[in-house]
Amino acid sequence: MTISRSLDQADIAALRSTVRGAVHRPTDPGYPIDGFNVAVSRRPWAVVDVLDADDVAAVVAFAGDAGMTVAVHSTGHGGTQIDGHSIVVRTGLLDVCNVDPEKRVARIGAGVRWQTVLDAAAPHGLAPLCGSSTTVGVAGFLSGGGIGPLVRTVGASSDHARSITVVTGDGEIIIATPELNPELFWGLRGGKATLGIITEVTVDLLPVPEIYGGALYFDGSEADRIVRAWRDWALALPRVANTSLALLRLPEMPGVPPMLAGRLTVAVRYAGIGDLADHAEILAPMRAVTTPLLDAVGPMPYAAIGAIHADPVDPMPTHEGAALLHDLPDDAIDALLDATGPTSGSALTVVEMRLLGGAFADEPTVRSALCHRDAALTLTTIGVLAPPIAEAVIGDSGRTIDGMAPWSTGGRLPNFAASSDPAVNATCYDDDTRSWLAALADQHDRRGVLRVGQVMRA
Ligand SMILES: Cc1cc2nc3c(=O)[nH]c(=O)nc-3n(C[C@H](O)[C@H](O)[C@H](O)COP(=O)(O)OP(=O)(O)OC[C@H]3O[C@@H](n4cnc5c(N)ncnc54)[C@H](O)[C@@H]3O)c2cc1C
Repeated sequence: MTISRSLDQADIAALRSTVRGAVHRPTDPGYPIDGFNVAVSRRPWAVVDVLDADDVAAVVAFAGDAGMTVAVHSTGHGGTQIDGHSIVVRTGLLDVCNVDPEKRVARIGAGVRWQTVLDAAAPHGLAPLCGSSTTVGVAGFLSGGGIGPLVRTVGASSDHARSITVVTGDGEIIIATPELNPELFWGLRGGKATLGIITEVTVDLLPVPEIYGGALYFDGSEADRIVRAWRDWALALPRVANTSLALLRLPEMPGVPPMLAGRLTVAVRYAGIGDLADHAEILAPMRAVTTPLLDAVGPMPYAAIGAIHADPVDPMPTHEGAALLHDLPDDAIDALLDATGPTSGSALTVVEMRLLGGAFADEPTVRSALCHRDAALTLTTIGVLAPPIAEAVIGDSGRTIDGMAPWSTGGRLPNFAASSDPAVNATCYDDDTRSWLAALADQHDRRGVLRVGQVMRA
């Protein structure tokens, strides 16, 4: 994208006069974009702290006139590189979070993180369908479909969205529901920011005050036995049971229990709703594989669901790799442990497989652009790009993902594939979905204002 003309002081004044929110240029104190993944370079022409959908529409119109693009930023958990050809819409001030306990819904602004919704819903015994990390933004998460710790029981979180307000690349403010603008409602759930910038969502809340959940942490020297036992157990689980397995190399730092730090451990995560006693029985075979270093699974308030994965909350420079697996035979476990097991010397902090299937694989009542629902497992690698392991992380991630290629579907889930590379983005969708998303994007963004970052364009 080239800027159609050079921008000067008059342009910044024009932008400031057209929006109510603050506009920051690189020398302004409000310009730096905080975000979870600090390895992502974010150097836009300007940052706008939008106050409402009208502000977003004004930024989009300005960018269209100037031949620029508009990227959206919330928490920085999944952003891509942003350069000086873009204006960033920062959504943090879109902070409405209203729970309606009668209707069991929450109306949520695009700047809100899941923990805020969890805390607002908990007093009513209600549960929003967040992901593993509750500091992730609601809008960004749902835009990628969203899979949470209960995904096999409830399906993708975006299947539980009721209404989405979006500003398109043409600057139109549109409410999309299954009945109103259904094609946008379809594409906004899975298409990331391809079809517009979400300003507000309304989602269902489930009557789930409590879950049975947490993680068993095992010594990594027994990884071979544990991973095979987990595979045998997990692939036979009923849909009320949800699990993931992670090979963890956690550093010694505040918040990491000493017995888990500075060594390889294997975490078997578990989450289930319904009869909590049944879940203890379902988990029993994994508890019996060998004595865990730490058994942190039991009844817990739903609002504490973030404790299951215990994802980090502080900003850090990370590199992620992702794949979807169709199977996990013994050869695949051999390959995984060759790359990341006890004798591998892997520099990766987390290598996680989440069990899919169950409700995730069902055709949702209202179809969406979230694809690859037939995958059996996700595979995610996370490495910290900090000394002394920084140099090894990218290579080890590539080796792990490539080593699993024989069992990969070739697809990715959009929330685990943050990239500006069209070839990577294309892997998130099947052929029809790619075509439909690109056609809808052309229809609603005639000047290509949103043609930046993780979008699916022709
Ligand atoms: C520690 C960690 C745990 C995670 N766990 C899960 C999980 O369990 N399940 C899961 O599905 N994902 C998970 N993710 C991925 C996460 O859902 C995505 O990275 C998501 O894009 C983050 O959105 P954000 O707004 O918080 O981040 P940002 O980096 O601010 O935004 C990322 C992208 O989301 C899109 N986006 C954000 N806001 C909007 C908006 N208002 N309108 C349209 N598009 C928007 C844009 O494409 C943007 O580039 C996790 C990520 C991390 C780092």
